[in-house]
Amino acid sequence: MKVLYYFRNDFRLHDNPLLTKALIKASKISFMAQKSHDHWGKWRKKFYDESLLCLNQNLNRFGHHLNLLSSEDVQKLKFDTFDILYTPKINAIHEDREYRELKNRVTVISEYNDRLLETLPYSSVQDLPDVFTEFRKKVEKSFLLSPAIQPPKNWPPSLKISNPSGLHCENDLNQIELIPHPNSAFPFKGGETAGIERVDDYFFKNKNILTYKKTRNGLVGRDYSTKLSPYLALGCLSAKDIYRKVEDFEKNIHKNQDTYWVKFELWWREYFRWVYEKYQIKLFMKNGIKGIPQFPNKDEDTFFQWKEGLTHNSFVDANMNELRLTGWMSNRGRQNVASFLVKDLNLPWWWGAEYFEDQLIDYDVFSNWGNWQYVAGVGNDPRPNRYFNTHKQAAVYDENGTFRSLWATPKVSPID
Ligand code: FAD
Repeated sequence: MKVLYYFRNDFRLHDNPLLTKALIKASKISFMAQKSHDHWGKWRKKFYDESLLCLNQNLNRFGHHLNLLSSEDVQKLKFDTFDILYTPKINAIHEDREYRELKNRVTVISEYNDRLLETLPYSSVQDLPDVFTEFRKKVEKSFLLSPAIQPPKNWPPSLKISNPSGLHCENDLNQIELIPHPNSAFPFKGGETAGIERVDDYFFKNKNILTYKKTRNGLVGRDYSTKLSPYLALGCLSAKDIYRKVEDFEKNIHKNQDTYWVKFELWWREYFRWVYEKYQIKLFMKNGIKGIPQFPNKDEDTFFQWKEGLTHNSFVDANMNELRLTGWMSNRGRQNVASFLVKDLNLPWWWGAEYFEDQLIDYDVFSNWGNWQYVAGVGNDPRPNRYFNTHKQAAVYDENGTFRSLWATPKVSPID
């Protein structure tokens, strides 16, 4: 069987069940992935490019390489040399459209490769509770983790594909040379290898996991939270493998509330995936899954000030500067800037979600849109009218102003 494997949100060789299936099935195999999109911010591109480069290097070890295609190339690709295409399932609108188009041209085998659960413990997805806690309590009790799956040692030989653009990982990944900001809370590289290293450091070497619940609302530095979301977003790491590592740590080293809390947060990620299954396109609609009519002020100038850190709210501005200059923002920061955009500036929440989509190195379609709806009050928040008072939040979480001074908007003197 001649197989083409299309990496989409699974940029890894380890614990990748679909890839292992494809390798077992194939007599010859070829690999491809899409290049980054032009509208993405440079930090998102950099992390993505580094992850592709790492994937290519890891494939090289098995005598293979990664073909790099633009989205137009994927549409033009000829499948006459292949019997079958394997690609992970991503059911969000754009990704699903591409998948359906491919299915018209070639036999496709596709399955979810980014979740903790294969199925829900409800008779229908419509029974998924709208409150996270109810979902978590139900699923975590009966959750059984399957063992990790590794690729076979012997790989089938490669098959050439006609790559219309002739792009190469070594030559055409442009953003890799970009130097991280010296204050960046995310100075890590993209890719499977760096992701595995981060888990080892955070869990086993430095044992930061032992204090995770206490530090996770932090704003400054590498270690207040796991920083695993960018690796999860591109599938450099699997959620199941991280969950296994937490349990391994709990079994062999120590178990406490903090170690448990990493699993708790992974359930949030999981939850938003199933929220999408239930509500589909409503996750992207202005009135949200709750269907609450929105009457924002569509003021482009104020939106520009929010993006550029020019609102004169020093806590919001510092967070927005951090995002623009690094592609990263803490969870506490995201909650505050999102609430400020919607509740203080009365701007459309979906403008903020779209901006995050382009900028965040950990952009994940379900987590981003699900969280934005939550903060905007049109999603899964059971509490009506939740409001983040950004001044109070700054006083609690940035008591000494360290974060604000690190990312302050430079003052322009009247002479300038
Ligand atoms: P940790 O605190 O170490 O948590 C461990 C893992 O749990 C994370 O890597 C992530 O996979 C998951 N997780 C934690 N909190 C959440 C949450 N609230 N929702 C879903 N999963 C969670 N997360 C993304 O991965 N991609 C996004 O595009 C994204 N957009 C967001 C937009 C807004 C407005 C808000 C409020 C939150 C958003 N989040 C998003 C969730 C959260 O902010 C990040 O997952 C988290 O800050 C990543 O840092 P970490 O890996 O150190 O997380």
